[in-house]
Amino acid sequence: MSYAALATRTAVVTGAASGIGAATARLLAAGGARVALLARRTERLDALAAEIAAAGGQALAVTTDLTDQASVDAAVTTVHAAYGAVDLVVNNAGVMQPNPVTDGRLDEWTRMIDTNLTGVLRIVRAFTPDLTAAGGEGRTADLVNISSIASHVLFPDYAVYGATKAAVTQLSGALRTELGPRDVRVSVIEPGLTGTELSGHVENPVLREQLDGMFAAIPAMTAEDIADLIAYTVTRPRHVNLRHLVALPTRQA
Ligand code: NDP
Repeated sequence: MSYAALATRTAVVTGAASGIGAATARLLAAGGARVALLARRTERLDALAAEIAAAGGQALAVTTDLTDQASVDAAVTTVHAAYGAVDLVVNNAGVMQPNPVTDGRLDEWTRMIDTNLTGVLRIVRAFTPDLTAAGGEGRTADLVNISSIASHVLFPDYAVYGATKAAVTQLSGALRTELGPRDVRVSVIEPGLTGTELSGHVENPVLREQLDGMFAAIPAMTAEDIADLIAYTVTRPRHVNLRHLVALPTRQA
């Protein structure tokens, strides 16, 4: 699909080092958007920026740790220096570390909450002034948050991950009430099973095996499928806000 409306946009994509974020950055750039790529792995971001440039697009690699406010502050300065204000923010970075809550893994809980929820809020805080300015000038402005079906489907041993994603979905709806009247669209997308490296970072061997079984049983969505939904969402006429999308593989119950 062609997304010509992207040609005037300046985007920030978090978690652009892999998976859904990388696919989204590629697609937005292919449509003509300038895209700032945020994540921790510099080599991945540099390689993606080079790939996008080689294809005729514009991308900026910005090494960022969303759990570190100083790192986010530095990223905002870098993005603004290179591109000026942004008008499209995709809050995609996330980590998933499932374990029984009775294991009491405070380290994993902290990491998930810091990345999936506080990280999202840090980016909202950093770029909302750009978005409201764009909206106020009559331009299209988008905040897209990536949640998960785990926000509303209860998976055993995914309690804290699910809680962070429920928070992202709730936050998105609440932000819409603040930002919609200022002509900033807020969308939340809740994907089901999607083939990325996310499941590869699951340390619990039993739960890792369970995920592998799901991938074997169900043809999962691809990162590109979700990127396509994001690009579709941000290219509607500016008075149309697709506010809540749930996307599942056809065979996932
Ligand atoms: P990936 O693991 O491929 O992507 C996660 C991205 O987040 C990576 O690029 C990673 O890069 C980045 N990231 C992690 N921690 C930080 C941090 N502290 N600071 C900055 N960036 C960080 O998985 P997906 O593409 O699947 O995940 C993208 C989003 O989609 C996540 O929010 C996930 O919860 C959600 N999701 C995924 C589903 C799936 O089935 N795959 C289903 C539902 C939702 P780096 O390590 O370089 O920092």
